[in-house]
Amino acid sequence: MTDSAHRSAYKEKRRKAKASACYCCGATVPFCWRCRCGFSICQDCMHQNFWGMSCNGITWQCPDCGGWNGFGNQ
Ligand SMILES: [Zn+2]
Ligand SMILES: [Zn+2]
Repeated sequence: MTDSAHRSAYKEKRRKAKASACYCCGATVPFCWRCRCGFSICQDCMHQNFWGMSCNGITWQCPDCGGWNGFGNQ
């Protein structure tokens, strides 16, 4: 009688990585710096926090997981 389970077969949509919401200011921007843990930060916030997140201008540290990410390999 109940066949409500049938509709769960629908393919789950993969999250589109086109627009991301910045974790700092919440703005949805076309480009974010992203960490593998899912943290993302917009360019404005990255500039504002630059010297708190990066000590060399080559890599930045994710405040969420502490992982290091490189600039320019997005
Ligand atoms: Zn931001
Ligand atoms: Zn992270």
